[in-house]
Amino acid sequence: MRSLLLLSLLAIAMNTHAQSADAPADPPQDAAQPKTALVIHGGAGYVARASLSAEDEAAARADLERALEAGHSILAAGGTALDAVQAAVVVLEESPRFNAGKGAVFNAQGGHELDASIMEGHTRRAGAVAGVTTVRSPITLARTVMEHSPHVMLAGDGAEAFADSRPEIERVPNDWFDTDRRRRALEQAQRQAAVGEAPHGQYFGTVGAVALDRHGHIAAATSTGGMTNKKWGRIGDSPVIGAGTWADARCGVSGTGWGEFYIRNAVAHDICARVAYRGDALVDAAEEVVNRVVTAAGGDGGAIALDVDGNIAMPFNSGTMYRAWIRPDGSRGVAIFED
Ligand code: ASP
Repeated sequence: MRSLLLLSLLAIAMNTHAQSADAPADPPQDAAQPKTALVIHGGAGYVARASLSAEDEAAARADLERALEAGHSILAAGGTALDAVQAAVVVLEESPRFNAGKGAVFNAQGGHELDASIMEGHTRRAGAVAGVTTVRSPITLARTVMEHSPHVMLAGDGAEAFADSRPEIERVPNDWFDTDRRRRALEQAQRQAAVGEAPHGQYFGTVGAVALDRHGHIAAATSTGGMTNKKWGRIGDSPVIGAGTWADARCGVSGTGWGEFYIRNAVAHDICARVAYRGDALVDAAEEVVNRVVTAAGGDGGAIALDVDGNIAMPFNSGTMYRAWIRPDGSRGVAIFED
């Protein structure tokens, strides 16, 4: 009798165990309101509507959609904001239409030097690379710096040597990044430089992403070839944490524009600082910094920003900014021009 009792107790215990293994785990605290959001950009610049062919526009929009989906599918499956921004940026790095990875602009010597950075808000971890020449996905290397080195930012030959030590980092010859379109842009920039014209609009097509995941965490990432015709190892804002990329517990930003002005004005950090310290609404903070602080200093460009409530801001003053977004309510969009 006693052994029967023991047996049945055992059976109940096993059954309970089996149930708890199969049954869905307790929902995470925030599962009732799994607010996720994602915003990406493919760079600010000056593109006359008439000069963008219907095919080019459709192809750029399709790339933005694919990048958005790559990030969104991670967020929808409960993945991290960090994984989502990296995935979205990798899609845009692989597209020849954007100034990051394949399709990066040419420097003055006719080569490519690539910059990227990534930041996770709630941990304040960050990684960045500058002036890399053979790394197919600079954003992936930036994340590797964050996760597998004690440093935040590696540049030039040192960054290449670090990449050598990481077999998972794919390498390509520098001319793999070449495109005819960017070569024509270099020729034009060199003609403009010869007559002393300011390099307005010689940035174009930098890419970035900011995401909010189900756990309420924010991450931001930016990747670029920098400015056409750049010399002397010039490094822009994109790999500079606080200038081109920032994420904290409540806010994240990825910038695009004339990088010197973004560095001088710590644009990405300033937007989030206004939210944190002054309680500004995200949209007001982003608008003020991009469309007043940067322009008053003589610069131009745009930014994407996202806060912990899933609010999204996408200000720019350069005529165009390739961008796409998914809000917490699931509404989504892709846009290039001001409308
Ligand atoms: N901000 C980048 C730089 O100055 C360029 C861009 O946004 O397109 O390097």
